[in-house]
Amino acid sequence: MTARWRTVATAAGLAATDGTTRPTIFAEMTALATETGAANLGQGFPDTDGPHWVREVARTAILDGANQYPPGRGIPELRAAVADHQRRHYGIALDPETEVLVTAGATEALTATLLALVGPGDEVVTLEPFYDSYAAAIAMAGAEHRTVPLRASEEGFRLHESDLRAALSPRTRILLVNSPHNPTGTVLRPDELRLIADAARTSDAIVVTDEVYEHLTFDGTVHTPLATLPGMAERTITISSAGKTFSLTGWKVGWATGPASLISAVLAIKQFLTYSGGAPFQPAIARALTEGDDDISALRASLAERRDLLVDGLTAAGFATSRTDGTYFVCADATPFLTEAMPDGDAFARALPPAAGVACVPLAAFCTPGSTAAQELGSWVRFTFVKDRAVLEEAVARLRTFSGS
Ligand code: PMP
Ligand code: GLN
Repeated sequence: MTARWRTVATAAGLAATDGTTRPTIFAEMTALATETGAANLGQGFPDTDGPHWVREVARTAILDGANQYPPGRGIPELRAAVADHQRRHYGIALDPETEVLVTAGATEALTATLLALVGPGDEVVTLEPFYDSYAAAIAMAGAEHRTVPLRASEEGFRLHESDLRAALSPRTRILLVNSPHNPTGTVLRPDELRLIADAARTSDAIVVTDEVYEHLTFDGTVHTPLATLPGMAERTITISSAGKTFSLTGWKVGWATGPASLISAVLAIKQFLTYSGGAPFQPAIARALTEGDDDISALRASLAERRDLLVDGLTAAGFATSRTDGTYFVCADATPFLTEAMPDGDAFARALPPAAGVACVPLAAFCTPGSTAAQELGSWVRFTFVKDRAVLEEAVARLRTFSGS
């Protein structure tokens, strides 16, 4: 009977061959945190829900009848709001009729894009470490996954030209770039973005960007969409979502924007994944994108403070942390705490909830087993700071007790 379950998921290592599903590392660590009563600095979701007024708009929309299928491309108000957001923040001009597609979160946009544009024999290049759904969606498409390691340095985790060149081949079809980057907190700099743009041009590859943390950057760090670089708009699909920007991760309202022909190809797949969704949430996110700039600024400022709290606490507990210019996350090297019984970041992350009352996620979970990045980052773990201050303070106190500092 086993053969019945040899699906793409089993082939990609996402499910066991008996058909049972392996939970994502995020679900696994949240379950462990719940079981042990640990502060959950593992899975990146906010403790505090997004703006009350935005939630009111959704409630009203439900009562006023926004409960049936919205159009496949998304409601016109939301498509207009996304186009206006891209113009206002980045100077990107989009036709909301043909160049904006609303999706079930960034996850659906990413998967539909990969299924639409690559298949067997094609290669997709991502940074490594990478968000877990990338490897899964590339496998679903039957394409090959190549990676470019981000390397730890005083300046945070950075992209190197030689690594990027080494990942390219005549089969490179897509460069899938995530900035601000989960899990490292890297916000790619102009020189790094130029390297990627040059690589895309020379390989004649399509660029797909995951910008879900676009507004969550700190200390004046500027996020620049790759689509704004010379010659890139015509070959770039830009993906984002409302989940992080408005602390509404469970609403799963995302979008893909780009040239009409590419968006139409993504729609061809998306219409058979979900067709459409989130009817009452779409008008609420349309309003949030249009009127929510103050809420975004407040979130950014508060996250920067919480990052400082966590980084200071981790440092006091004896971890070396890496510079984080954006996202929800800070990475820490657990080397000082490793033992023969707990030899790497993966074992450390699994031991920490029962031992210290704090959950984190190993960076190995964002790497291809055995890769350069997996080896270099084997002792690293990721903590999220998108938690209430009291939770962070308690977590830091527990880590200091654990480390005896
Ligand atoms: N990309 C990255 C880098 C993420 O961290 C996440 C999840 N938080 C997603 C995509 C998924 O976004 P969504 O919840 O909108 O599907
Ligand atoms: N993006 C979140 C994180 O990196 C998790 C989302 C999920 O659980 N799939 O923690």
